[in-house]
Amino acid sequence: MPLYEFRCRDCGSFDRSFAMAEVPAAVDCPGCAATSRRQPGGAFIRPGSAAARLIDATTRTASEPAVVGAPAARGAALTRNPLHHKLPRP
Ligand SMILES: [Zn+2]
Repeated sequence: MPLYEFRCRDCGSFDRSFAMAEVPAAVDCPGCAATSRRQPGGAFIRPGSAAARLIDATTRTASEPAVVGAPAARGAALTRNPLHHKLPRP
């Protein structure tokens, strides 16, 4: 079932899962039991789904980039095209 985002004035946002035909306009906040309205748009991504894993991986690469163990070897041929040898060198 999809997740929908609700917002409590005091506690902030939280997600609840409902069938699309049964989603209410407001639910009780799990923190303070105040009436919390559904936010437009909401989250429609199931936890553990491929889309959720992709978003998690993308977020992780932004904050935890992959570490390279060593720089590229000097003199190693990057290309075999002879025309590339005529390009200006830095
Ligand atoms: Zn609350």
